[in-house]
Amino acid sequence: MICTCERCLYTFEHPSQPEQCPDCGKYAVRTATSREVAEFRRYSQELAGKPLTPWYRADMPILAVGS
Ligand SMILES: [Zn+2]
Repeated sequence: MICTCERCLYTFEHPSQPEQCPDCGKYAVRTATSREVAEFRRYSQELAGKPLTPWYRADMPILAVGS
């Protein structure tokens, strides 16, 4: 399930709703709203996508130098 801390708005995935926020440690964790879930999904997709998009492309044509 996706949970959000009422105090610091840290949103995270957890198998069951913890009482304590893993980020700020406050006992203010609630179930995330659908909007927060959507933002969480988008954010985690961005994070997951970044390592798969290197600054160079492996299939980039190699320019022959000096020929
Ligand atoms: Zn928190």
